[in-house]
Amino acid sequence: MQTTTGTAHGAPRRVCILGATGSIGASTLDVIACHPDRFEVTALAAHRNVPRLAALCRRFRPRYAVLVDAAAARALEVELAADRLPTSILAGEAGLITVASLAEVDTVLAAIVGAAGLASTLAAARAGKRILLANKEALVLGGALFMAAVRDGGATLLPIDSEHNAIFQCLPPTYARDPTEVGVRRILLTASGGPFRTRPVGELADVTPDEACAHPNWSMGRKISVDSATMMNKGLEVIEAHWLFGVAAEAIDVVIHPQSIVHSLVEYVDGSVLAQLGHPDMRTPIAQALGYPERIATPVPALDLAQRGSLSFEACDFERFPCLTLAYAALRAGGTAPALLNAANEIAVEAFLAGKLRFTDIVTTCAHVLAHVPVAAVAALDDVHAADTTARSVAQGFVASRLVQGRVTP
Ligand code: NAD
Ligand code: MG
Repeated sequence: MQTTTGTAHGAPRRVCILGATGSIGASTLDVIACHPDRFEVTALAAHRNVPRLAALCRRFRPRYAVLVDAAAARALEVELAADRLPTSILAGEAGLITVASLAEVDTVLAAIVGAAGLASTLAAARAGKRILLANKEALVLGGALFMAAVRDGGATLLPIDSEHNAIFQCLPPTYARDPTEVGVRRILLTASGGPFRTRPVGELADVTPDEACAHPNWSMGRKISVDSATMMNKGLEVIEAHWLFGVAAEAIDVVIHPQSIVHSLVEYVDGSVLAQLGHPDMRTPIAQALGYPERIATPVPALDLAQRGSLSFEACDFERFPCLTLAYAALRAGGTAPALLNAANEIAVEAFLAGKLRFTDIVTTCAHVLAHVPVAAVAALDDVHAADTTARSVAQGFVASRLVQGRVTP
């Protein structure tokens, strides 16, 4: 039987949450709050949301709080001055790296959105932390470097992206990044198809940011919500699966599963297919990784299959979701190609959310960048940064040329 008493499982794990004010940050703190004897919140970090981080500091009393934006960090100091908290406030990317590598932290939840999460996640890997990875962009940008840092730093990597967490649960516990060694034939990532799975393709040019962010099953941050609508998210996840599990692009398939109950599957050479099921609630994969190898309780209700009735699956429509084709191509091209794709996508999604770019031009922007920026080998982080910078600038130029004229607010 599971227990949550202090003595049964040793000292509490000391957790640093990068991206504490976001959707994954909130789900993580929700799980942690259920197990105060198992987890201690040592550091909370975010971009610039002062009221949200102040409220979290008052509630969880961390030893450190970081806001990357320097003015916001100063405002947080003022805001918390009268609270007599044990919290030191840090600023900038240096602050993120400091808390990600603190000796007193053993677990780092990497939940910053986008390329902004790479440096701190890498620092956690080098410092040998137990990393709970939500920031898939870190692997997409610098997969080889990141996996080498995990190995060399002696870090433990636990995926919390729901699909990858499902695959992790369906692989043997001793899995060592060689699918053939354990009889794995194929990995099947499920995808809900997002809010536009059945929308006539001809109408997609005019969808609004709010429509794109209205995911039918998951409640998430706006960037990943748009990525789910274009299915670039699934494309990034194919690349993420490649690096996490050492599986070639040819052995990673995507199947549409509109209900988001089956979170992914592993097919073995004997014909067995193992799947992990659950409600579409990130607290489940987060708790699986937080407690690993133990199981810890969450407030997620039990899954009632009879009440669900049926689950359905369909083939992925690559014409409707061309971003997925681009992601497979970038993975096969290797080198800086996935970093170029990720940077172009971040710029395009930001422009779309700001009402400056049509939904259908997100993929056009990404294709333009991949066609015009040469792919280079990745030997060091500088190669990734150079690709990221060039791709952003080419994408900005392209977006400016496609600017939606006269569009009011997003
Ligand atoms: P979100 O937008 O809700 O939160 C993002 C967090 O990152 C915030 O705390 C924000 O302050 C921080 N942040 C943003 N820019 C930053 C910067 N420049 N420097 C430091 N911090 C910065 O996003 P989310 O939905 O929680 O997603 C976070 C990550 O988890 C993404 O990589 C996403 O792909 C991944 N993920 C999310 C979900 C989900 O259900 N939300 C599921 C799987 C994977
Ligand atoms: Mg996912």
